[in-house]
Amino acid sequence: MVSGLFVGGKWVAGGAPLEVKNKYDGKSLGAVATARKEDVEAAIASADRHAETMANLPVHKRAEILLRTAELLKQRKETLARTIAAEAGKALKIARAEVDRSATTFTIAAEEARRIHGETVALDAVPAGEGYFGFWLRRPVGVVGAITPFNFPLNLVAHKVAPAIAAGNALVLKPAEQTPLTAVALFEILLEAGAPEGAINLLHGDGETVGDALVTDPRVAKISFTGSAAVGKIILGRAGIKKVTLELGNSSPVIIAPDADLDFAAKRTAFGAFVYSGQVCISVQRIYGDKKIFESLSEKLVQAGEAMVVGDPLDEKTDIGPMIAQKEAERIEGWVKEAQAGGAKVLSGGKREGSVYWPTMLSNVTPEMKVMAQEVFAPVASVIACDDFEESLRQANATSYGLQASVFTRDIDRVLRAIKKLNFGGVIVNDMPAFRADHMPYGGNKQSGLGREGLRFAIEEMTNIQMVAIRTTG
Ligand code: NAP
Repeated sequence: MVSGLFVGGKWVAGGAPLEVKNKYDGKSLGAVATARKEDVEAAIASADRHAETMANLPVHKRAEILLRTAELLKQRKETLARTIAAEAGKALKIARAEVDRSATTFTIAAEEARRIHGETVALDAVPAGEGYFGFWLRRPVGVVGAITPFNFPLNLVAHKVAPAIAAGNALVLKPAEQTPLTAVALFEILLEAGAPEGAINLLHGDGETVGDALVTDPRVAKISFTGSAAVGKIILGRAGIKKVTLELGNSSPVIIAPDADLDFAAKRTAFGAFVYSGQVCISVQRIYGDKKIFESLSEKLVQAGEAMVVGDPLDEKTDIGPMIAQKEAERIEGWVKEAQAGGAKVLSGGKREGSVYWPTMLSNVTPEMKVMAQEVFAPVASVIACDDFEESLRQANATSYGLQASVFTRDIDRVLRAIKKLNFGGVIVNDMPAFRADHMPYGGNKQSGLGREGLRFAIEEMTNIQMVAIRTTG
């Protein structure tokens, strides 16, 4: 049984099968059918036809579907976590946490659905508005096209599907080719939870054809994309006039001041650099330590990294599994070797076996090295000595990205300076930049993207404001 394509209210046969492999041992996990041109057309047409069904679905019914989905996610936690661990290569304990978060994402979406509202507008504040009664409200956009990456195959899909339903939209989802099985499992749950069948559609296949067809179709009113900056730029150039949210990459800096709790800072920073092999958009990449604490900080970071267990993601003891593909592990191996040739020092790790790359801490790096200048998206971080706090703030900002940054300090003046100066969508104080609670506004400045997710904010991006002005008589 292949399929896994849900189009026009049913599972359809589709085209050539796409085999999905276990990212640690390469064994086959099954396959899904890729969408042919006619499947893409049928999915968009179905979503378009059902946009009105969704818009007319009372909010309490949308909330019920979302809450039931959350419940089923909790009930199937173990199966889902094992699917994520196998197809994404994510350590089982981290995969379990992803399932918990997804249930939260759907629960909060249900709450936010009940809070969608507008405001009255005092039109008579200007002479032209005298005699008019005004208010604005939020209307669903119609069809949301959702395109998602491999690294959180459940929760990042949830961050698009849940607000789309909460806002009263129909949807076509295209998950990453490396991790389609989790999306299929989520669709089975959504259908069981009562999501209107023709309104939610699931397509598989390559981004440049299936993804692009969603991006360019005028019936798709909104593209919600999470992935690389390179693809984000292409999407923006191809979308035409429609709403677009882009959640892109980062090069997350961490600043550790001399007054910080060093043991805690090192432990959390190493975790934030290496968890899920650094394949998180807010993974720690650049660590700026004050020169007074630099030696001790480097030692503690190395110790914390070396304490993490590397191995089979399905093993309970494992902290760090493989990278998504061997070519990605080879890419980062090449970047580290290049940095070494330019004078960088490997403090720990620097080893590859197949698609597994060991947690690696570098020092003596320079800003033009790839490990500093580009998003590493691998278990590699660099520790850099800074003369003072101002200098570390300046260096932290020296990136084209701007998603999240963090600072460890107990000094309130430093905290306030960091908040004011760091040009990032999120500033985390006394924890790693990889901190995220699913309801908080989340998104980047500069090349890290456009718009914000986090349920309330995603709903805002998936609705249009409609103004109503009523001329009063008498
Ligand atoms: P990616 O290569 O950009 O792919 C993301 C999705 O876009 C996949 O479904 C892909 O399809 C599709 N795609 C590729 N080319 C396309 C095109 N021309 N038109 C439309 N869709 C297209 O990213 P990835 O490697 O999966 O994920 C890693 C990146 O995502 C990193 O840069 C990371 O920082 C970023 N990310 C950001 C966030 C955030 O919230 N800001 C969260 C997670 C990840 P295929 O299946 O064909 O590849």
